[in-house]
Amino acid sequence: MRTQVIEKLEILADAAKYDVSCASSGGERENSKTGLGNSRAMGICHTYTPDGRCVSLLKVLFSNVCIYDCAYCTTRRSNEEVVRTAFTVKEVVDLTMEFYKRNYIEGLFLSSGIFRDADTTTEKLVEVARSLRHEHQFNGYIHLKVIPGASTDLLVEAGRLADRLSVNIEIPSERSLKAVAPEKDYASVIRPMDTIREGHDEYRAERKKTKRAPRFSPGGQSTQLVVGATPEDDRTVLSLADGLYKEQKLRRVYYSGYVPISSDGRVPDPATYRQPLAREHRLYQADWLIRQYDFSLDEVLPAEQPHLDMKLDPKAAYALRFPELFPIDVNTAPMEWLQRVPGLGLKSARRIVAARRRGTVRWEHLRAMGVVLKRARYFITTPEHRPHLIGTDPGEIRRRIVGGKASGAPQLSLFGAPPPVVTPPPAAPARGRIVTPSGALAPLASAPLARAA
Ligand code: SF4
Repeated sequence: MRTQVIEKLEILADAAKYDVSCASSGGERENSKTGLGNSRAMGICHTYTPDGRCVSLLKVLFSNVCIYDCAYCTTRRSNEEVVRTAFTVKEVVDLTMEFYKRNYIEGLFLSSGIFRDADTTTEKLVEVARSLRHEHQFNGYIHLKVIPGASTDLLVEAGRLADRLSVNIEIPSERSLKAVAPEKDYASVIRPMDTIREGHDEYRAERKKTKRAPRFSPGGQSTQLVVGATPEDDRTVLSLADGLYKEQKLRRVYYSGYVPISSDGRVPDPATYRQPLAREHRLYQADWLIRQYDFSLDEVLPAEQPHLDMKLDPKAAYALRFPELFPIDVNTAPMEWLQRVPGLGLKSARRIVAARRRGTVRWEHLRAMGVVLKRARYFITTPEHRPHLIGTDPGEIRRRIVGGKASGAPQLSLFGAPPPVVTPPPAAPARGRIVTPSGALAPLASAPLARAA
């Protein structure tokens, strides 16, 4: 490989590492007799960024020349410490093909600085994908980053060629976006998202009628939110993500803890700033509860408590905010409540429901099913386990879960009158609602919660 291309690769792959919005695929494509490779919905991301995140594509910028000046980005035009360069279309295509043939990669993630305008830049990214698909019959995975403000025609062609598209919002509020990225606005990001959503919806509808429906970004779209560069709290970040999942049907929102590269007065000072990795982790957990466990935003993070607990996972934090709803009986609770128990994942909840058909579920069965009993023990009952015997005070439970020392509160008597065990509500709660002791559904904010004991 020519030295010049290797030098470009070093620079442009390094510049791309801060974009985390490519860590999954979702695309399926079979090889043809004359083509090369195929892609699978799973297992595309197998390389690791310096902070441990998994990415497995040839992940590069087409160019790190940018006419914009986003304070949080190393590629911004005012950053004079950066060596600027750009690939040619042929160079990116050749690299992808060579790396793929050598089994180094399973696909390509291609983004770029905006070197002239949105359309010129997007056209180059589309040219790469066009050449790979049509000239080289490349059937591997392609993820293209869409440049905000690009024209609809280019977006449609990008959607036809790529497995996934993404448009980065980056900053979790428009006000802050204006302050740190003056050339950007939400409208220029939301417009392409609309086009991608419509194209993808159409593709899915057509696909139900015929397998030959023209593909359009089968892996859907994703975005990235940078946290820590601007002052938005966790609820603001999650509220934006929740809206994007519902309105734009995003496949994923990626949270990237801001990494201070060089000083710019508009973002935190690198001398004192610490990358919020714990916060990033908690945001992913909260996001997971909303997407996979049917929690509402209010349940994960109420308006009056807009910051995630950094020491406690969001599901445990939720359970401790509503001690009245726990413990629940694993032998009678509906699936919807089992999956709300800290330490109990979807898989274990399903296993419990299946096991109940064969007989009573006991403590040792839960252990065998892989339930994290260290956490779940405070929130469930089995015939031989009644958590009121070890104390039900939420503060005390929190201390025990996070590994701190017990408060010194006296152990409850094994022989005193035990508080009644709360049986789970009969039906699943609707999103954003909880079940009151009377069994009626009430909005979370106004639900009158009676204590169990
Ligand atoms: S437009 Fe993109 S590449 Fe350019 S400075 Fe902003 S974030 Fe960086």
